[in-house]
Amino acid sequence: MGSVSAIVVLHEEGAPEARQLMALCPEHLALLRAIRWVALDEVVGTSRVLRCEACTLLDPGPPTMPPTPAASGSDVGRPVAS
Ligand SMILES: [Zn+2]
Repeated sequence: MGSVSAIVVLHEEGAPEARQLMALCPEHLALLRAIRWVALDEVVGTSRVLRCEACTLLDPGPPTMPPTPAASGSDVGRPVAS
């Protein structure tokens, strides 16, 4: 039950100092390996607890915060050109 995420250290090409730790499912790990501007430093482990960050972005699950409606637009006070 539940897929195993790989915990990886990666960095963007051109920014080798800015390393990031990410959890990725096998599908997104394969996808990431295909991206040129992302370099995989190493796979440091696996986890059943951490969810793939890419999957989380695509499917955040039940919303924790309802979308705030845009400020009610009102034309009151708008200067009228004469
Ligand atoms: Zn994923």
